[in-house]
Amino acid sequence: MRLGSMWRDALSALVREPATQQYPFERLQAPEHLRSKLHWDLTNCTGCGLCAKDCPSDAIDVIVLDKKARKFVFRYHVDRCTFCSQCVMSCPKKCLEMANDEWELASLTPDDFLVYYGNEEDVETVLAAAASNGADASSTDTE
Ligand code: SF4
Ligand code: SF4
Repeated sequence: MRLGSMWRDALSALVREPATQQYPFERLQAPEHLRSKLHWDLTNCTGCGLCAKDCPSDAIDVIVLDKKARKFVFRYHVDRCTFCSQCVMSCPKKCLEMANDEWELASLTPDDFLVYYGNEEDVETVLAAAASNGADASSTDTE
């Protein structure tokens, strides 16, 4: 590199806008098709368990409390998920979708990586059973 062009580059770098953002104070809009946190909608779920069966990371448990009464709880292990979207494609009832704007999933608390979806009462039943077994049971999203 010639000395002249080196100076030119150095001077233009001084006046250029920075390429970095002041994250987390400034955030870029997430791309429309970004795969972030998985969400489950109970409305059409049949409890078939195909999503859990096809998940390559063992990140889903479909807990069937009462199949006839359609009492299901969906347990999502965020820390195991590779965001491959296989479960979304496998679900025949289109119950699953991945948000594009919930990608800040880091946490210092392991409990935050375990998410329960379902009716409040059903989730409580599962949490109580997990607590009595000494299992990990924490983050709860209820419908
Ligand atoms: S996105 Fe992939 S890894 Fe994550 S829960 Fe679905 S199938 Fe499993
Ligand atoms: S594949 Fe779909 S319908 Fe079957 S248990 Fe999973 S979410 Fe429910």
